[in-house]
Amino acid sequence: MAARFGSGAAGHTRTMLETEQLVHGSWTPGNAGRAVTVVNPRDDRPVTRVTCSSGDDVAAAVASARTAAASWSAVAAADRGAALHAAATAVADAADDLAAVMADEMGKPVEEARASVLAGVGTLRQYAELGPVHRGRSLAGDPSATDLMTYEPRGVVAVITPWNDPVAVACGLLGAALVTGNTVVHKPSERTPATGWRLAQVLAPHFPDGVFNLVNGDAPVGAALAAAPVDVVAHVGSTATGRAIAAACARTGAKALLENGGCDPLIVDAGVDPRWAAGQAALGAFANAGQICVSVERIYAHRAVADPFLEALAEEADRWRSRIGPLVDRRLRDAVDEQVQLAVKAGATAVRGGAAPAGPGAWYPPTVLAGCTDEMAVMREETFGPVAPVAEVESFDEALARAADSPYGLAATVLTRSMSHAQRAWRTLPTGTVKVNAVFGGAPGGAAHPRRGSGQGFGYGPELLDEMTATKVVHLAAPPTGW
Ligand code: NAD
Repeated sequence: MAARFGSGAAGHTRTMLETEQLVHGSWTPGNAGRAVTVVNPRDDRPVTRVTCSSGDDVAAAVASARTAAASWSAVAAADRGAALHAAATAVADAADDLAAVMADEMGKPVEEARASVLAGVGTLRQYAELGPVHRGRSLAGDPSATDLMTYEPRGVVAVITPWNDPVAVACGLLGAALVTGNTVVHKPSERTPATGWRLAQVLAPHFPDGVFNLVNGDAPVGAALAAAPVDVVAHVGSTATGRAIAAACARTGAKALLENGGCDPLIVDAGVDPRWAAGQAALGAFANAGQICVSVERIYAHRAVADPFLEALAEEADRWRSRIGPLVDRRLRDAVDEQVQLAVKAGATAVRGGAAPAGPGAWYPPTVLAGCTDEMAVMREETFGPVAPVAEVESFDEALARAADSPYGLAATVLTRSMSHAQRAWRTLPTGTVKVNAVFGGAPGGAAHPRRGSGQGFGYGPELLDEMTATKVVHLAAPPTGW
């Protein structure tokens, strides 16, 4: 039975894929004796079977990466950059296939999946160019000596990634790790395992055996990798997982690089055009069915514009209904719906949506909730679904204070005509990113420190190369005269 709303063609109709792990150049099934089946969230059709990697498989992958580390770090940076360029070209050539597999596994409309694969290609190319020019500094010490700061690869990097933008996110971490001379063990999400497997099949041949390793499976496989003797664990995913990984790294001494969840506020100030503001709010809350780390998660609307804004947002929700795909799976849909039902029980009004439709798949309609309070989970926690909860505020000050009061600190957006309000917002909000008058966008190369539960370190941009390398200070004194 077809779903009653949503859009975009599903991926190709294909036979079920079965993933393989990659350890020192050999592709084999995982040996955990456990398998995960992924179903297409549009229609519940099984699309992938993952045979999970065992603890021994993870250990072998880490050992393989360790063995390859010395020789890969000795390759000239320009040659590592050239390898990454060749790998990027291969990903571009495979874009249609990768997009189809991604669409099959996570329900993203296939044309959006293709655009996100191409974003990953762009990131690989950026790191292919930036890696060879990543450089240290010389210092001004004793004139008879030479003092410098130089970068070295950290060694073995575990790259543990989510499903919501699986190719682009993986390409950033993998590209930055590899071009700086690290070897990697990648574990893609168990919700998009074939996407990760196909990507690895395309990337790995461009590097010597052991430089790129892949393990597959669910949380226990990730936990085994995070606890292994690696040098960096780079994790993009939920805050709860990030905290577990930070604890594992505290035990092993590995560096934890964490890009985690958010509960991004949107402030709609007095004096803005409510229709335009509603368009921005809908884009922020409903794009990718709300499954973006920097989705708009809660909205504070000034009472001077709240009513027309809410009316326009409801109309936007009607428009988005035919544009979005399903959520990644029923587990996420149940979690989203639970937050919505709790909010309604606590006094919010579902102006649009607010109930999962019957039938196959993991569909959820664009939902607008009015009369929300900050105690509600839908305002306090990350929802990760197409839900726009709105609270009316008396003043910009109130909006700013409530926006800042969060266990997360990823990003925030302010829609305002007032330059002084914009200034106060970007100076005071405790988030890595502040956007004024646009929910998405921004110059390439932007990298920020997420705050609080949203993570730690630079997960993007040129600064990611610093994270993937260790800085060494060298002092070269001249030998005493007469030696
Ligand atoms: P998740 O943390 O559940 O899973 C991500 C990866 O971690 C998967 O590969 C998973 O198998 C692995 N994992 C799970 N438990 C683990 C453990 N105990 N130890 C080690 N690895 C473990 O996250 P998800 O649901 O796949 O992704 C959605 C989340 O990712 C959202 O919270 C979203 O905000 C966040 N995200 C953040 C950014 C960012 O840049 N800040 C970008 C994309 C997604």
